[in-house]
Amino acid sequence: MTRNDELFDRARNVIPGGVNSPVRAFGSVGGTPLFLQSARGAYVTDADGREYVDLVASWGPALIGHTHPQVVDAVKAAAEKGLSFGAPTEGEVQLAGVIADRVQAAGLSPVEEVRLVSTGTEATMTAIRLARGVTGRDLLVKFDGNYHGHSDGLLAAAGSGVATLALPGTAGVPAGVAAETLVVPYGDLEAVREVIAAYGDRIAAIIVEGAPANMGVVEPPYGFNADLAEMAHGAGALLILDEVLTGFRVHRAGAWGLQVENGPAYEPDIITFGKVVGGGMPLAALGGKRAIMEHLAPTGPVYQAGTLSGNPLSVAAGLATLELATDEVYAHINAAADTVTSALTSALAAEGVVHAIPRVGSLFGLAFFDRAPANYEIAKMQEAHRYPPFFHAMLAGGVNLPPSVYEAWFLTAAHDDEALGRIVDVLPAAAKAAASA
Ligand code: PMP
Repeated sequence: MTRNDELFDRARNVIPGGVNSPVRAFGSVGGTPLFLQSARGAYVTDADGREYVDLVASWGPALIGHTHPQVVDAVKAAAEKGLSFGAPTEGEVQLAGVIADRVQAAGLSPVEEVRLVSTGTEATMTAIRLARGVTGRDLLVKFDGNYHGHSDGLLAAAGSGVATLALPGTAGVPAGVAAETLVVPYGDLEAVREVIAAYGDRIAAIIVEGAPANMGVVEPPYGFNADLAEMAHGAGALLILDEVLTGFRVHRAGAWGLQVENGPAYEPDIITFGKVVGGGMPLAALGGKRAIMEHLAPTGPVYQAGTLSGNPLSVAAGLATLELATDEVYAHINAAADTVTSALTSALAAEGVVHAIPRVGSLFGLAFFDRAPANYEIAKMQEAHRYPPFFHAMLAGGVNLPPSVYEAWFLTAAHDDEALGRIVDVLPAAAKAAASA
C-alpha cells in the first residue's frame, strides 16, 4: 500500500469522500488521488516522494510557478507583521490599484473600484447581488456549462426548452432559488435574445466566463462577449464577466484584454477575479465602475462583508505574483502552450485518435471529438472514456494532469525546456493508451 493509498483511506474516514473539493477525488478517472506534500516551480511531489511535472497549477493560481521565492518571501514578511487584522491595510489599496491599472485596453478602463473577497464563489455571488441591487431586478441569465462557483443560484441546471427558468443543479438548492436563473446554451445569441424577449425587464444580469474553461476550454465566438454586453445593456441589465479563471492568466488584462485587443471593444459592468490574483492564497475580487461598485456597503445599500477579506498574507501573495506576471511571462507561457499542444496533437494523430485542442491564449484543453466543442451539449458528446487511460499513462510517466477531461491544462512561467521535454516524452505512450480505450 502506498502512502497515498494509506492517506486516502484515512481521509475518507474523516472527510467526505476524502477531499475538500470534489474534483480532487479522481472520480472521473478512477484510482487514488495524489496527496501532495510540496510544490516548486513546474513540479509537485506526492506523499510517496514521487515528483511530477504539474499541469494543474493549483487549478490556475500558480501562473509564475509554484512557491516562487519572491512570493514566499512576501508572504513570510506579511506573516511576521500580523496574520489578520480585520482592519484596512495599505496592501489592499495597492492591490486594488494594480488590478484597476492592469485591466485597461483599447482606451477602456472598466475597473475603477475593487472589493477584495476570499474565493471566486464569493466574488460571483457578490457580483450578482450587486447587479440585483443596482437594477432592482431578480433574474439572472447564465450559460450551460459555465461554472461560477457554488453559490445556490449559480448551481442551476438548464430546464427543458430555452426560455424556461432553471431547475436546481444539485441537491440542497431550493427550486425557488434556481428559478431565478435562466440557463441558455453557450454561444447562442438567438437563445439570449429569446430570454430577453420573454423576461427582459426582470433580468438583472447576464453572467459569462471570460472564456469558458469549465466544460473543457471553449473559444468564445468572435465578438460574443461584446454582443452580450450590448444585449444586456439594451435590456437595462448588467454584464458580469467572470474572470476568476482567465483573469491575469490568458493575458495581462485577462480574457477581456485579449478580446478587446483582437476584436470589438466592450465594457463589462462587473468583472470577477480569483486564482492568479491571489497567487495561491485565498483571495478573489470583483471590480467595476465607481457608479456601480459604490452600491456596495458601506457607501451603498448592497450588503457584503468578510472577516478575512483582504487578508494581508493573501494580498502580499497577490501583489508579488502580479508584479512577476510580466509580458515576458505571458509570452513564455504561450510558447510553452505551442510546444505542448503540437506534441499532443502529433502523438494523438499518430495513434489515429480523434481529438481537438481548443485554446484561448495559453489556456487549452483536450477533447476527444472531431472538432472543438462549441458548448456543453457538444462537449458531452465526446469519447470521454479515452481520458482515464490517457490521464493514468501521463501520471505513470510523471506528469500530473487535471483529473477530468472537462478541465483546462495550466502551464506556468516555470515550465522550462526540461519540464516541457518530460511532458513531450510521455505523450506517445498516453496517446497509445487513449487509442486502445
Ligand atoms: N468562476 C470560475 C470561472 C471558476 O473557474 C471558478 C473555480 N474554478 C470559480 C468561479 C469559483 O472559484 P472558487 O473555487 O475560488 O470559489
